[in-house]
Amino acid sequence: MKKRTYIALFALAALAVVSAQQAQKKPGWRTSPTGYTDGPQLPGQKWRVHDIARPKPRVVETALGKPPGDAIVLFDGKDLSQWTNGKGGAAGWKLAGGYAESVKGGGDLVSKESFGNAQYHIEWASPAVVDGDSQWRGNSGVLIMRRYEIQVLDSFNNPTYADGQAASIYGQWPPLVNASRKPGEWQTYDIIWEAPAFEGGKVKKPAYVTVLHNGVLAHHRQQVIGQMAHRAIKPYEAHAAEEPLAFQDHDTRARIKQVWVRRLKGYDEQ
Ligand code: MG
Repeated sequence: MKKRTYIALFALAALAVVSAQQAQKKPGWRTSPTGYTDGPQLPGQKWRVHDIARPKPRVVETALGKPPGDAIVLFDGKDLSQWTNGKGGAAGWKLAGGYAESVKGGGDLVSKESFGNAQYHIEWASPAVVDGDSQWRGNSGVLIMRRYEIQVLDSFNNPTYADGQAASIYGQWPPLVNASRKPGEWQTYDIIWEAPAFEGGKVKKPAYVTVLHNGVLAHHRQQVIGQMAHRAIKPYEAHAAEEPLAFQDHDTRARIKQVWVRRLKGYDEQ
């Protein structure tokens, strides 16, 4: 084909695209600029107001009841291959009917992969049969970075110390409200974790956590004062920027069903 033929074909294709776009623009169609170059400078930012050059956020596909397109699925209810017992052995929780259940002596469930700033989604349930009280009702815990605990407990009509009930930052802050469902019912935690930063072995920036329990706000970017501890205050100890996620073995039959995580980036980062 000659060069002129190529040009003609390209022009025809371009014309087809333009006319298709125009065909969509029916009477009454309204149009507005997709950005500006002359807006005021945003204080403390590289960008102007409505800056046309500002990077567009990454597209993440979503569907009701499914993990977001960019999530790492750590557990789908069937496969524990991404987990260990944290002591060099295989995961010690048992698989049954689309979930994993803590087993006496099975140890914590520890992810093989490590995470820093992250968004976690966890579906969990406490045992339907109640055979204890206070801290002996479905006790487990989401151990972020293996040392900061968001308590997992059956807190439905179950009095216990406030900073140890479900969705508490264990031993530090009670949840803002008690959004617990009945024993045996599936519940969700959505956790936004800002990892602590260390410099020269000292805390440069503490951790902050936001927790939604069954979609209800339990903590709003709350500062974490240190590591999980029982009847004690355990200060921060320097650790890696990324650490595994773990679920606590507290010798009760706690269950998990879905666990996914997204590594967090900042504004304008792709
Ligand atoms: Mg616990």
